[in-house]
Amino acid sequence: MSRPISFPPSSSTVRVRMIDTTARMTVRAESFVEPVQPGHEFLNLSAVAFLIEHEPTGRKMMFDLGVRKDYWNYAAILQKRIGTVISSLRVDKNVSDILVENGVELDSISSVIWSHYHWDHVGNMSLFPPSTEIVVGPGFKSAPQLLPGFPEKLDSPVLVSEFESRQLREIDFSATSLEIGGYGAYDFFDDGSFYLLDTPGHCIGHMCGLARTTSGDDSTFLLLGGDICHFVADIRPNPTYPLPDEIPSEMLDHDPTYFPRPCPCSLFTDHHPQLSSDASLEERQRTPFYKVSTHSASAYIDPPTAQNSVDKLLDFERSSNVLVCLAHDEALLKYLPTFNRDPKSELNDWRNQGWKEKVRWDWLNELPRDGKPGRKLIVEGFWRDRKLWDRSKEKMEEKGETETEKAEAGSL
Ligand SMILES: [Zn+2]
Repeated sequence: MSRPISFPPSSSTVRVRMIDTTARMTVRAESFVEPVQPGHEFLNLSAVAFLIEHEPTGRKMMFDLGVRKDYWNYAAILQKRIGTVISSLRVDKNVSDILVENGVELDSISSVIWSHYHWDHVGNMSLFPPSTEIVVGPGFKSAPQLLPGFPEKLDSPVLVSEFESRQLREIDFSATSLEIGGYGAYDFFDDGSFYLLDTPGHCIGHMCGLARTTSGDDSTFLLLGGDICHFVADIRPNPTYPLPDEIPSEMLDHDPTYFPRPCPCSLFTDHHPQLSSDASLEERQRTPFYKVSTHSASAYIDPPTAQNSVDKLLDFERSSNVLVCLAHDEALLKYLPTFNRDPKSELNDWRNQGWKEKVRWDWLNELPRDGKPGRKLIVEGFWRDRKLWDRSKEKMEEKGETETEKAEAGSL
């Protein structure tokens, strides 16, 4: 049953712009979704970040930063994962460079909120001035495996240099009784324009953002999902937005050898990964295709808790006044305007623009169908300075890993 969400009223909004972080990667699907279908062993992941401007005060902040361009300078423990869980990776620019190139000075960014501390969200904080604080979720500061960071703590996935001379603020959701959609909520500007949501399960302190994009009784919101899950088919299709009998052809990749025209939904529903052969077509059209991975190499440190967070996310997805934006959803870059292409373009008018409908079924292109694999890999190999990088020459010596290292470093 859908639980309608009761959103607190407010007349304040934030302006939201989306940045293409330029990170492109492929990862082993088994660590992220289940069950994995033959022909979909790898997930294609792009990465977006958000520039948020508090309109009443003019304060600017970032929600996530993507991957730093020189990703080989992340903590040593992460280097071991390159080529294993992470099967290919390319990053052309730092988000900080994208901001400056487009007229946003870094000293105007008062906060960088990390949805979580994994390498593909934290960027390179050392490029920001000390006046920019880092905001993290509950448990970050007290987690024994994190601070003070690498190299002082050799197996830490975060870098000491991120925190030097800057404020590190941890959100305490227990200090407020505010709840939105079943998540603990923190009113960031104390005026209802932007909330952080307590969304545990992927890693310590994972948070989503909830940005009010238009005000009034029927306010609209963007839910900035971070890595609450990594693939939108964890929440699609669903009873509010079932898979249509015919998939609109404009949502399918333009390759006539791949899709019949018109394209019946049975091409996908006949192979619904969650349902047995006796499930009805209606059920197949209304049940999300995936759950979060419970594999031994799962990217979720607590898969049942992560699934519970995703189940609540489904209520946001089913609300017509909320657009869910997962950090790694490729459809966002395909259909929504980016700060990179047009620094003035904002997402606030998303409902009138019909973007919730436009992005809804793009993920189907990723799935195998009719015995053919899904979309091609978005990047192959590892790239450095825009060139393919032969890592075999520089490969680090393999060493034994503790279980903590595996759990921490295998995730993104
Ligand atoms: Zn991620």
